[in-house]
Amino acid sequence: MMRSTALPLRAERLARGALRRVRHLVPRAPRPAILMYHRIAEESFDPWQLAVSPAYFAEHMQWVRRARLPLPLAEFARRHRDGSLPPSAIAVTFDDGYACNATTAAPILERLGIPATIFLPAELIGSTRLFWWDELRAIVFAHDGSTLQLDGEELGLGPRSPNDDHWPRQLDQRTLRQQAFYSLWSRLQTKPPVELQRLMDELRAQVPVDTPQSHRLMTPDEVRSIRSDLVEFGSHALSHPSLPNLPLAEKKREIRRSVAACEAISGARPRTFAYPFGEFDADCEREVEAAGFACACTTERQPVRNSDRLFALPRIQVENLNVRGLKSAVAGDD
Ligand SMILES: [Zn+2]
Repeated sequence: MMRSTALPLRAERLARGALRRVRHLVPRAPRPAILMYHRIAEESFDPWQLAVSPAYFAEHMQWVRRARLPLPLAEFARRHRDGSLPPSAIAVTFDDGYACNATTAAPILERLGIPATIFLPAELIGSTRLFWWDELRAIVFAHDGSTLQLDGEELGLGPRSPNDDHWPRQLDQRTLRQQAFYSLWSRLQTKPPVELQRLMDELRAQVPVDTPQSHRLMTPDEVRSIRSDLVEFGSHALSHPSLPNLPLAEKKREIRRSVAACEAISGARPRTFAYPFGEFDADCEREVEAAGFACACTTERQPVRNSDRLFALPRIQVENLNVRGLKSAVAGDD
């Protein structure tokens, strides 16, 4: 037997739609949140939505100053631990140490008086290398040929396309070379650092590319040039590996040695930690705590809840959206 449900279903749909519309009109109680940025730059090729335009970033920070209580991350974590975190608290963070953090973001933060933490992968700061994924992009899209050799295999890249430089939101609109780039990235992302270096060396030997300045990391001089009480540096491990994929001894090395390595660059002991790629396990949490950090951040897109552990604090990745988009993300509407 089938129940006739057409009418009640339609009524329910209408009611739900009305509720959704009204919800936007009613101010919701704020919830404490940690914001995660990467690059502050104009970018059309952005598979992971890591770039926020300088204009949007300035808008975001004006809203944070006007409507929220910006706190340094270590202070945010301390109040979370003590159960005294105000609902309007916001901590601003940056992962990876891109040079634009020093040249573009820091002046905006200083002008508006907003504290922030920049997580540095200490071993990479001061090397002239790009992040391997930015270098991989340069290699795949600069290559004149249509194949690359990797680990005894031939990889098809397809022809280059005028659309290669514009990363589409929709999966089915990716060019052949964009698809090849993404599958190569997925394959390399889980490799331990030594193997990753070997594979990247193999690719570098086939397609020598210049370092695009737009994606370079801060130099140690640039780190030290941020002479501000507002901006501090946290640790993003030594070499930005996927920590859960490492043997325990390597995890320990990446976490514990990053304290001294980060301090050697910035001149101050890092108080906070962010897991590379947001990936962590129970060993990582234990090691980060044992290394003396006050807290650690993941990339779980959530405001901070009372029940969140200090060494697994969620963060909201901010995409290239206007301030309305930021507010919606912080409210957990997306
Ligand atoms: Zn990172």
